[in-house]
Amino acid sequence: MSPPLTKDQPVSTAMVDIRSVHKRFGSLEVLKGVDLEVRAGEVTVILGPSGSGKSTLLRTINHLEKADRGWISVDGTLVGYRRSGDKLYELPEREILRQRTRIGFVFQNFNLFPHLTVLDNIVEAPVSALKRPRKDVVETARRLLDRVGLADKADAYPKQLSGGQQQRVAIARALALEPRLLLFDEPTSALDPELVGEVLDVIKDLAHQGTTMIVVTHEIGFAREVADTVVFMDDGRIVERGAPGDVLERPRHERTRAFLSKVL
Ligand code: ADP
Ligand code: MG
Repeated sequence: MSPPLTKDQPVSTAMVDIRSVHKRFGSLEVLKGVDLEVRAGEVTVILGPSGSGKSTLLRTINHLEKADRGWISVDGTLVGYRRSGDKLYELPEREILRQRTRIGFVFQNFNLFPHLTVLDNIVEAPVSALKRPRKDVVETARRLLDRVGLADKADAYPKQLSGGQQQRVAIARALALEPRLLLFDEPTSALDPELVGEVLDVIKDLAHQGTTMIVVTHEIGFAREVADTVVFMDDGRIVERGAPGDVLERPRHERTRAFLSKVL
């Protein structure tokens, strides 16, 4: 259960390995011992009711929250580790920042910089965080914009774009850091229904190219089509996990059935 305490040793061969992670906010225990393994190239879809801890789990993987107990490794490296006993291992802040650049995070509300053009939104992090030459990054950014179908929007500002276009820019921005892992937190929940498809198509395209990702979504059709593994979370725990055909068509737990009957 305990990982080695030196940060140089690989702790897991999985792309993401989450063991017994607990997290509380004050008296509210939000994650009550979560275990999850995601292998390289796999797509894991997390389903679950509002408040079940899905966002907190993603944020913990990306160091936006610190786990109280348990451990997480991403690509063989410990993301953060704390133990209530005598030994405590935590990454230095600089290492946390470095690791965060290797994990792409796409939020429900796009979170683009409003004062920057589409191109500059994508170029900003690789230049400032990774110190890549701007000229190279601009070239990459244009290629990525083409890939998400927005080559003609490089000089537009976020507010001139539809929600679906903004989210596609956010995905291109995440990809510009060449992440080992992409995390999506309800990437289509803030979109008008007619714009959902264009964003899901981009995510599907990434999935087919072997990008490792964890996607929190209520889009069951997407889960059925794209997921290697579907996870159902409720009340801070993983209740059920398995192939989409099992979890979605033949759920074993009453809570999974009750949830699916509401969203299907
Ligand atoms: P989900 O994404 O499944 O809807 P969240 O992880 O956002 O669930 O939230 C789980 C619970 O934790 C909720 O009750 C939420 O109100 C609470 N919570 C989330 N973030 C914080 C925070 N920073 N401070 C206090 N409570 C929080
Ligand atoms: Mg959430």
